[in-house]
Amino acid sequence: MLSNPRRRQLLAGLALGGVGLLGLAPCAAAAKTRLILLGTGGGPTPKKNRSAPAQVILVDGQAYVIDCGNGVGRQLAAAQVRFSAISNVFITHHHSDHNADYGNLLLLAWETDLAHRVDTWGPPPLTKMTELFLQLNDYDIQTRIVDEGRVPLAPLIVPHEITASGVVMEDARVKVSAALVHHPPVVPAFAYRFDTADRSIVISGDTSPSESLVALAKDADVLVHEVMHLPSLEKLIAAEPNAVRLKEHLLAAHTSCEDVGRIATAAGVKTLVLSHFVPGGYPFLEDSVWLEAVRPYFSGEVIVGRDLLEI
Ligand SMILES: [Zn+2]
Ligand SMILES: [Zn+2]
Repeated sequence: MLSNPRRRQLLAGLALGGVGLLGLAPCAAAAKTRLILLGTGGGPTPKKNRSAPAQVILVDGQAYVIDCGNGVGRQLAAAQVRFSAISNVFITHHHSDHNADYGNLLLLAWETDLAHRVDTWGPPPLTKMTELFLQLNDYDIQTRIVDEGRVPLAPLIVPHEITASGVVMEDARVKVSAALVHHPPVVPAFAYRFDTADRSIVISGDTSPSESLVALAKDADVLVHEVMHLPSLEKLIAAEPNAVRLKEHLLAAHTSCEDVGRIATAAGVKTLVLSHFVPGGYPFLEDSVWLEAVRPYFSGEVIVGRDLLEI
């Protein structure tokens, strides 16, 4: 197990530098279930320092992708995850920072080396979105089937729409449960919990403080939670013409540093991972700013997420 945050940062640094040691690190190899943050910036605006929200959980070489923000395919490549390892894709909710590359991930994976069934899970209208995406890209798909001899893509993608809390799916490696969270005006929005033989990992998706998430994350090993830093936000949006409305939305739909700490404490999780940072772009807040804001409210391990960080 990776118990030392500085070691984790080092591993992430090596991966970012392209040294490629991530898969060879003895501590990482010891843990059967791996969690890699692929994108940690909140909101749809492309950012210099953080990719859009996405995570991958690897269990016995199978990849479970959670959220498909823009660039998720590139981030998987950077994390050295094979596209053919993708078995299931989960979308927390239909904001574009979480789903913009849902179809693109599957298309580009198929154009790389994915030739087996992938089950996808998320709120309605996931099925229609899948159909329309295939239609939109039909020219390219048909061309590659004829030109490159690929198997048809459409039968490989099996979407499942989720509308309520509960167990979503279970296979030999993982049980996935969902909880409805509060992220107005988007309904439904889900958090997901992954229970494997050796770990329990919860991904909050986007949410304001939600009791349902506390229950879902009860005693989990790892909680990846969205977070916003209100003092910085207030400064940032003051100049925006729609500042008042923007602030109202952010407060109603997201979670402050203080509340993230409280939620981790109430759930009794071992490790809290901050992600989906708002603000997530410029100005890039130092890790210490996030840590200092959360620390008074949670005494367990706190990790400030970075793209490609393995936990
Ligand atoms: Zn978001
Ligand atoms: Zn959202």
